[in-house]
Amino acid sequence: ARRFDHISPAAKDPITSVTEAFLTDPNPDKINLGGAYRDGEGKPVVLQCVRDAEAKIAGSEFLESVSAAINSKLVEESCKLIYGGDSESIKEERFAGIQALSGTGACRLFAEFQRRFYPDSHIYFPNPTWSNHHNIWRDAQVSVRNFCYYHPKSKGLNFEGLISDIKNAPEGSFFLFHPCAHNPTGIDPTEEEWREISYHLKVKNHFPFFDVAYQGFASGDIDKDVMAIRIFLQDGHLVASAQSFAKNMGLYGHRVGCLSFLCDDVKQAFAIKSQLQKIARAMYGSPPVHGVLLVSTILGDQTIKALWTKELKIMADRIHGMRTILRESLEKLASPLNWEHITSQVGMFCYSGLKAEQIDRLARDFHVYMTSDGRISMAGVTTSNVDYLATAIHEVTK
Ligand code: PLP
Repeated sequence: ARRFDHISPAAKDPITSVTEAFLTDPNPDKINLGGAYRDGEGKPVVLQCVRDAEAKIAGSEFLESVSAAINSKLVEESCKLIYGGDSESIKEERFAGIQALSGTGACRLFAEFQRRFYPDSHIYFPNPTWSNHHNIWRDAQVSVRNFCYYHPKSKGLNFEGLISDIKNAPEGSFFLFHPCAHNPTGIDPTEEEWREISYHLKVKNHFPFFDVAYQGFASGDIDKDVMAIRIFLQDGHLVASAQSFAKNMGLYGHRVGCLSFLCDDVKQAFAIKSQLQKIARAMYGSPPVHGVLLVSTILGDQTIKALWTKELKIMADRIHGMRTILRESLEKLASPLNWEHITSQVGMFCYSGLKAEQIDRLARDFHVYMTSDGRISMAGVTTSNVDYLATAIHEVTK
């Protein structure tokens, strides 16, 4: 037998398939509802805060690995962003973190950490969740289970199911949460619901892991969007978080993220940090340096940070506006279906409830592309394509 004959092609990633189908379609009306943020003209965005940070670091000597000081700065600023600058754990330096290869890399490091130090534990994912969560923890050989999240009938949260799954999981399980702008459903628990979730996790001594990929995209406010994490801190949980700056700073290709832990004391924090560094060193050495300089500059400079939060709000508002227009357009077309969930869901995604054959028809007859679970990336909807999109959705659902 030849050396490579036993290797067959891997299944395509769902987002890659959507992008490929979109790119090969020559029709000028085509719409990509697969993923990344676009401006009102459908173009990729470079934020002005990133331009300002670039100007500030121009000429820096970043050909060598960045210094420990810059790494610590990124970790500290990232932690302040989610845990709050005045949180006890930050003030007492009871946190440990490491720069990661964006959100994906942060999740992968955590999964490896979990397998090494809690080899018999399970991780529970919301059902559904970002499809890559499954790949990441499977490759790390951690046992994956699901908890109830989406309720197809109400197109809302299955809160009862969620709580009962927390209660029934073996003591000390790991639970992954999206603190805001849940991918793919766009459904977040309310403040009251988060309080109950936190309470029940505490009772069972479960460990909360937050995947923070869209901070700022749900409400337009970076603090409001991590209200869930702050509730867990008030309740005295130790937590870990994966942060991505891909979306909220528009730095997709730069791969800047952070994995952080809150610990009981400084000694634990020191141990955890050194273990994370050891895991990363064997996986990829050190991460690229340009992006980390950009992010730590944006977060560390009050003027640039203020510009960032303003620009983030503009992106969130644009998406919110598109939700309103899409829903109104469908209602104007006298669609017999209820489209309230387009505006009640938050963040980049609308979990449309469209069925597989309707999604196929949207692609075939209308050149509109989305993943087969019916997830619409609202970031791809613009004032110029929203009417066409509403008509297309109406045609395949009436
Ligand atoms: N987590 C969630 C929930 C996501 O939706 C994504 C991206 O789609 C990521 C993590 C990772 O993104 P990245 O690795 O580009 O930062």
